[in-house]
Order: sequence, then structure tokens, then C-alpha cells
Amino acid sequence: QSQELSQVQIDYHAALQALVEDGTRMVCTGKMHTDRICRFDSLCYSTEAEEFVYFHSNSSVMLPNLGSRRFQPALLDLSSVEDHNTQYFNFVELPAAALKFMPKPVFVPDVALIANRFNPDNLMHVFHDDLLPIYYTMQQFSDLDLEARLFFMEGWSEGVHFDLYKLLSNKQPLLREQLKTLGRLLCFTKSYVGLSKITTWYQYGFVQPQGPKANILVSGNEIRQFTKFMMQKLNVSLEESSSEEYIVVFSRTINRLILNEAELILALAQEFQMKTITVSLEEHSFSDIVRLISNASMLVSMHGAQLVMSLFLPRGATVVELFPYAINPEHYTPYKTLATLPGMDLQYIAWQNTDREDTITYPDRPWDQGGIAHLDKTEQERIIKSTEVPRHLCCRNPEWLFRAYQDTKVNIPSLIHVIRQTVKSKPGLKKQKWSGSLYPGKVRDAKCQASVQGTSEAKLAVSWQIPWNLKYLKVREVKYEVWIQEQGENTYMPYILSHQNHTFSENIKPFTIYLVWIRCIFNKNLLGPFADVLLCST
Ligand code: UDP
Repeated sequence: QSQELSQVQIDYHAALQALVEDGTRMVCTGKMHTDRICRFDSLCYSTEAEEFVYFHSNSSVMLPNLGSRRFQPALLDLSSVEDHNTQYFNFVELPAAALKFMPKPVFVPDVALIANRFNPDNLMHVFHDDLLPIYYTMQQFSDLDLEARLFFMEGWSEGVHFDLYKLLSNKQPLLREQLKTLGRLLCFTKSYVGLSKITTWYQYGFVQPQGPKANILVSGNEIRQFTKFMMQKLNVSLEESSSEEYIVVFSRTINRLILNEAELILALAQEFQMKTITVSLEEHSFSDIVRLISNASMLVSMHGAQLVMSLFLPRGATVVELFPYAINPEHYTPYKTLATLPGMDLQYIAWQNTDREDTITYPDRPWDQGGIAHLDKTEQERIIKSTEVPRHLCCRNPEWLFRAYQDTKVNIPSLIHVIRQTVKSKPGLKKQKWSGSLYPGKVRDAKCQASVQGTSEAKLAVSWQIPWNLKYLKVREVKYEVWIQEQGENTYMPYILSHQNHTFSENIKPFTIYLVWIRCIFNKNLLGPFADVLLCST
């Protein structure tokens, strides 16, 4: 069954002639393979060799032209997971003249985005590694619009969440296996290869134990622009908050269970005087889950991929993540990091089962479901006695898997106590004021005037104007920070001031040159840039 590529007819002979004469053209962004995305004209793919092909001719371009550094270790990462050696992209080079001896190329007329999905069966990976990065890579390049076509090259089948990938463009995404049905040599007229990593917030522990990425560059605003897009595509409308407030318990039905779910739901309903409902990936459609979560005041769930759905919570809502026995919540924070991104405006609470009596272990299951029967007896005993899984690398640590796949009887009073430490009255004050944070510009027209009194005393009068953007803003508190540094010294005197001028006399010496640095601060923590340094001679 051949996949229909496009209704757009292309002039085959013209396309072939252009390929032979012009060859492949590549221009990339990014300095390293880990931050590179490349745009190609006439990139080809041999479905027999399962390799991309770059054709050299008189007009071909290759930027960066790395020589053999292209293989050290690769030109770029095909997935958004950084520097993973199963996700590298490269191409094989041929002279365009070789086309004479090759299978007739089949041209792909759509603008293509070529990438790898990292783990399309796990919902956290689907959103974090694929959907958000694809969405924002498409935002970066204007010809990657809704008419672009996605090509997934990782080699997996569609997977259970394929419908979500389909929302990102109007054209059916194609998988590596399907390319064979299209032809032996495919040539992408225009394509982009690689994914932006700018929205990712978590590293999974391939080289160091898992944790938040070192330099997070995404805020709640961009997350919510993405979820707004997804909700439109899913036909889920944002209901107004006039409707009743409620709590959602997101349950797992296969493993890592909450054993007393009914009791938990009753307790939450009673404590917070709110309707409390359960959802699960097995029993609800994805749109229903999004609809329910996007209006919830609180989301309660076991640690696990389903918690990535807190992406869809409204501002002001609370996320409660439950951890099985011996799993330290501080060591597994993908959902905490998400909930606490600046501007997500969610409250995050972790609860851990600390009572051995309340956990059910499964030592006899297969290793990938947390079984440990395949290990040495002494190692099994050590794991069973241990009270905390030590930090570890991804992904097959048996002690981690053993503990991660326990079922838990949630100690209700202990859970309610932990939630109550953060949620004082009713959860999910939805009518939160937009706490958007805008930063001050530079202060303007800074001036200084020195006066000397005798041989040992001097004064420095410094004044400046408000930052230009302040006159258009309502800011609760405006302060100025001034640093006074004697030229040639590497220390300075810092001052926080409320007015636009000040006369400094402490520690000011006559016949000395001072450097004066001034910046504006909004609401205590929004630090603006320093204005150009002011040189003041007493
Ligand atoms: N999953 C589920 N119900 C279950 C167990 C798992 O829907 O009872 C889903 C889970 O949300 C994830 C996928 O199956 O999308 C893989 O789950 P796994 O336990 O391997 O990963 P984790 O949730 O720990 O990331």
C-alpha cells in the first residue's frame, strides 16, 4: 500500500534535472552536533541502504563544512535527547553523476521535518522529547507550517500515542518503514533535519543521575501556548471557571497502583469539600483527560509518565505526586521541574510512602517490571533491606525498577497533612492575577558631581532617570541598585536606593576616580541591566 505523498504535482523531469545539476544544498544553525538543525535542498534517502545521501555537484553547499569532524561523533542529534549515541544523524556523499546508475529518485514535494522520536510509548517522553520540540522547531522555521510533513526515522511503529503526533501538521506523519513503499531513492525537495532542544527541562540520567537540565530555557508561557494549540486541535474548549471545582486522581491500572484508591478519593473529597474523580489512560480518551485536567483544581497521581499531563492544568492548580517506598522524591523530579517552571504557576507537593507495611513488592516479575529473582541472593537481600534507592544512571537499575513498580497503600492522614502544609484553604485559586514579570530597561542620563572638602573628605552626588519602559508599566515597587567601585580595586560598595539621586559620602576619598554602576529593580527580584558605567573623579 503506497502512501500518497501529495496532491501537488511536480514536474518530474525538471526536478531530476535540478538534482543532477545542483546537487544537495545544506545550511545549518548551531555550533555543535548537540545544538544543530540543518536545512537541506535535495537531501535524498536510500531506503535500501537506510542512509541519507548528499549529492555533490557544481552548486552544492555544505555549511558547516566539517570534513571528517562530521563523524566525531555526528553531524547532529536527530532526537531532542542530548548526545545520545543511538540518535545521531549523518549522510553518505556521492557525486551527482552517480544518479545515472541509481534507482530513479522519487521526489517528496512537501516541506519535511526529519527527526527521531525518543520513546513514543511513554507519555512523558512523547510530550517532553517529541511533541514540544517538534512544535517549537516548526515555530522556528516559517516554511515548517501546517502543510509540512513529519518523517520519524527512529524505526518504531506508530505507537499508542500516534494520534497526538498527527495533530502537529495536516499531513499524515510517515515512519521509516513506510518509506520503502514509496521508492528506493527518495529525495526531499526541502527539508529540515533535527529538533530544537530549547523547550526540554529534564535529563534522564544517561551520563549522570537524572535531574533538571542545567540551563532551562522554557517558561510556563511557551508551555501554555503549546497546550492551547493542542487543545484546539483536540477540540477541547477552555471552560469558564463558573463551573464546579474538582480534584482529579490520575490512576494507573497495570502497575505502581494505589491500593486504597476509593478511600483516597473519599478523603480528598471530604477534606477539600470538592468533587473528586479518577481518570486513567486505559479508561478515558485522551481528549476527555485533557478536558478534565484543564479545569481541575488539583491533580493527584503516582509518580509516572501520566503526570506529564499537568502541562494542561490551569494556573493556580496543585500537583500532588505520590512516591512508593524507598524512592526519594528529590531524585526523580521531571514533574516537579515542570510544575515549578517560571510562569507555570502551579503548586507542587511530593508525598512519599515511608512505611514498609504499606508497600507491596513484586520480586518475581520479569526484570523490566521490577523483578529481582534473576539477581544474586545477597544482592536480592540487600535490595529488600534497603530503605532508599541510591542515585543511579538510567535505565536498567534493578533496585530502582524493583521499588518503582511497588504498589502502595497511601497513608491518608500523612498525605492530607503534607498537602495541608501547602494548600491552606481551597486548592486552585483560579482567579489568580497575571503575575507576568517584565524586566526594567537601563536607567538613563546618569550623572555624577563630585565635591571635595579639605584633604580627606569628599562627596559624590549621583543622579539618573527612570528606565524608559517604566512609564508604560504598573510596577508595585521600583528600586535602584548602585555599586561604587574605586578604579583599580576589585571590590565595590553596593547600595539599594528608592530615589533617582543620592549623595554618597561614606568612604569617598578626594582625588580618586570611581566607577559607578546603576541598575533598576522591579518588585525586589526583577533585576534590570546595568547602565553604561559612569566615571566620576573627586
Ligand atoms: N501506563 C499506564 N498505566 C499503567 C502503567 C503505565 O497508562 O498502569 C503508561 C504510562 O503512563 C506510560 C507508559 O505506560 O505512558 C509506560 O509506563 P512506565 O511505567 O514504563 O513508565 P513511567 O510511567 O514510569 O515513566
